[in-house]
Amino acid sequence: MKKHAIIPIFIPHKGCPNDCVFCNQKKITAHTKAVTPEDVRATVDQWLTTLSQPKPETLEIAFFGGSFTGIPMEEQSAYLAVAKEYKDKGIIDKIHLSTRPDYIDERILDNLKSFDVDVIELGVQSFDPEVLKLSGRGHNAACVYESSSLIKGYGFTLGIQLMIGLPGDSMEKCVYSARETVAISPAIARLYPTVVIEDTELCAMYERGEYEPLSTDEAVLRTKAMYEILDDAGINIIRVGLKSSDIIADGNSISGKTFHPAFRQLVEGEIARDRITSILDRKLAELPHHENPLMTDIYSSPGWYSNMIGNSGVNRDYFTGNYPGLLIKFKTDESLADNAYRIEIKGEKKIWKRNL
Ligand code: SF4
Repeated sequence: MKKHAIIPIFIPHKGCPNDCVFCNQKKITAHTKAVTPEDVRATVDQWLTTLSQPKPETLEIAFFGGSFTGIPMEEQSAYLAVAKEYKDKGIIDKIHLSTRPDYIDERILDNLKSFDVDVIELGVQSFDPEVLKLSGRGHNAACVYESSSLIKGYGFTLGIQLMIGLPGDSMEKCVYSARETVAISPAIARLYPTVVIEDTELCAMYERGEYEPLSTDEAVLRTKAMYEILDDAGINIIRVGLKSSDIIADGNSISGKTFHPAFRQLVEGEIARDRITSILDRKLAELPHHENPLMTDIYSSPGWYSNMIGNSGVNRDYFTGNYPGLLIKFKTDESLADNAYRIEIKGEKKIWKRNL
């Protein structure tokens, strides 16, 4: 059974006064029809008909798009009233939304509380002042700490979204942003490598040679460092990278090679490879000298099997190529947690005995 499902509702922020360089909302909202509360109802009903049975353990209505709490309060209330109706009837379990850190105050949170909202995600993007400035975010890091503390104080579940590779960004700044996120201690996080979308200022900067997108390898390296910091702190990383459906659904097109459809697997695959390598090297270092190839079984949880193998089998090829003395099989073990591994080298006891 699917544990968790989200019914996404895209609410564009018409008239957003901000100028984030990576965003093309102004272009989109200029030629798209405004979403009405009735549209929200129709979208939810449509999703409900396509949901797999049995119902997921948790079903959420999530308002994404621009900055939900930046739209006029009456409009927020009209959308939320529809969502609350489904929640009150027990059809959905949670109401979820995303917004900017500087669009949070007590008046806004009181209103969200009155509609029984559960999860608020903040589009923080970076904690570095220069990255925020060069990206045209229009807010500083101080308001992220204030808003986060207010949101948690009201009892909402807090989420933090970070971007990797914005103008002025670096590995050190990415690590700093991940550490500051841990200090705030949200329940959930999303990591988005920057994608250059056409019709954005970022795209113009790229074409003028003022901005260089990260290579996929560099984006994976930075995201992996952030992922490990957040994961070690017990923060649930609910998304890594955009899905192609996100981009198509928003009517966007991508410029340059800044999008990889399996980005999460690239990151998690590298994490799996690092962990397996360290267990394997430790095990082999403890084993006495041997001449015959060793039958080796590497186990992961069923959910992380594809990460263990790697995108397009890259990890399988890596281990086969780098450990020619092993005959490796990759297997699953339901008792293992995600991203935990067990390695069995067949006959290892005999090798030990032979060398005693
Ligand atoms: S990312 Fe959000 S806040 Fe920034 S310009 Fe786009 S809609 Fe406005």
